[in-house]
Amino acid sequence: MPLLINLQLLRQKAQQVTGELPVAEFAEGFQDDLVRFVAPLHHDLEIRYEGEELFIRGLLKTELECNCSRCLKTFRLRLELPDFAVLAPLQGEEAVPIEGDFANLTSLLREDSLLALPTAPLCKPDCRGLAVKAPARDSRSRDLSPAGPADGKSPWDALEQLKLK
Ligand SMILES: [Zn+2]
Repeated sequence: MPLLINLQLLRQKAQQVTGELPVAEFAEGFQDDLVRFVAPLHHDLEIRYEGEELFIRGLLKTELECNCSRCLKTFRLRLELPDFAVLAPLQGEEAVPIEGDFANLTSLLREDSLLALPTAPLCKPDCRGLAVKAPARDSRSRDLSPAGPADGKSPWDALEQLKLK
């Protein structure tokens, strides 16, 4: 099931849309050496008209299986954007597809999910890869705390920056 929004209803009032898009739906044909989608794209979105565009805001999350770009170890990574927000035009080249009374937001969510993927996933921020054995006494190198969203390196950052343009 694609994510379809009834524009007639939306004209009357904002819609709250919660659900999941299966991997086959939102990541169809996606191929990457290091990253695979392993969970549906969960979305919890508020959608309303903003002038002649759609304003879409809310939560997107899914789960990835990655291979570390340095040591190739396989690990799971939650991809979560709690403050996803986008203005989607209904006309012009960038317009979301319209089918009758419905706007299809599947490809929009797909594109933004793909933009947010890590290009060089790391099993941990200070992974040293296969070639170099980390010397135990080398404590000066980098004192990074275990991976956490607070380090500002969320894979969604790329998306956030795009939205600021
Ligand atoms: Zn690694």
